[in-house]
Amino acid sequence: MDILSTTFTHAFPPAHPAPGPALWLVFSKDGLLIRGAEGQSSLHRGGSSTVEALCLRAPLYLGTLGSIPCLAADFDPDLDVPEGWVVRSLRSLYGELSEAEYTLAGYAQQMLYWRRTSGFCPVCGHHTEPRDGDWGRLCPECGHIAYPHVTPATLILVHDGPRLLLAHKPGWGNRYSILAGFVESGESLEECVRRETMEETGLKLTDLAYVGSQPWPYPHQLMLGFTARYAGGDIQVDGVELDHAEWFTVENLPELPPPVSLSRTMIDEWITRQLAISASAQLQIGLLPSPMSA
Ligand SMILES: [Zn+2]
Repeated sequence: MDILSTTFTHAFPPAHPAPGPALWLVFSKDGLLIRGAEGQSSLHRGGSSTVEALCLRAPLYLGTLGSIPCLAADFDPDLDVPEGWVVRSLRSLYGELSEAEYTLAGYAQQMLYWRRTSGFCPVCGHHTEPRDGDWGRLCPECGHIAYPHVTPATLILVHDGPRLLLAHKPGWGNRYSILAGFVESGESLEECVRRETMEETGLKLTDLAYVGSQPWPYPHQLMLGFTARYAGGDIQVDGVELDHAEWFTVENLPELPPPVSLSRTMIDEWITRQLAISASAQLQIGLLPSPMSA
């Protein structure tokens, strides 16, 4: 089976996996247990008995990737990592696992986090019970139902045409990125984009446009990407969230976030657009030979 070309189908309690080999997503507190050396990582595919013995509780059945059942489980912290397995942070596995496996691992991490944090009712403190048909937890005492959290946060690429605004947080080394911020209760995404930009840099925006989204399982964010054009103000960072922000052109970009993130994808798309604009401008003023002139 070619795992790269398969789709994931969700399953919810009380579904059970079909007997036979399964794809195991076993997490310790430091990351995902995987097989193989760096650069050739793979999730464990196999029968349940040996892997299940390493896990703290029964695995969660998440669904099927193609036809193979996918199971998420917490590694027993009292055990040593077995021979042939290594613990790797999810971020470090980007590009090594297939895209389908990487997305699935993020989902598994979120569902395990949900199980660890949803055992008691937030209203009355009673033990909760699983519900049929979703990952909600029902309190049999007071009837409260809680669902897995998804926390929206915006990513904001601010430009003024030829220049891109990049910001630096304390502790980031030499790396710069676009702006980001959590959505507040009662706030639209557009209001969040404008407020975060004003709070963090003192700049006003116009021409907001939605770009795309990315689940970010650390522990349960949903990143929503926007581009916006500078509309006024001088850069003033707060010194806490950000210690520096500056305009950059494609010729003088600083160190950027790793390719795993939507913020990097948005920056790369902006760079590609800028290079296309500058190539087309050079063509128009005759600096480059036209492809038609040969
Ligand atoms: Zn309750």
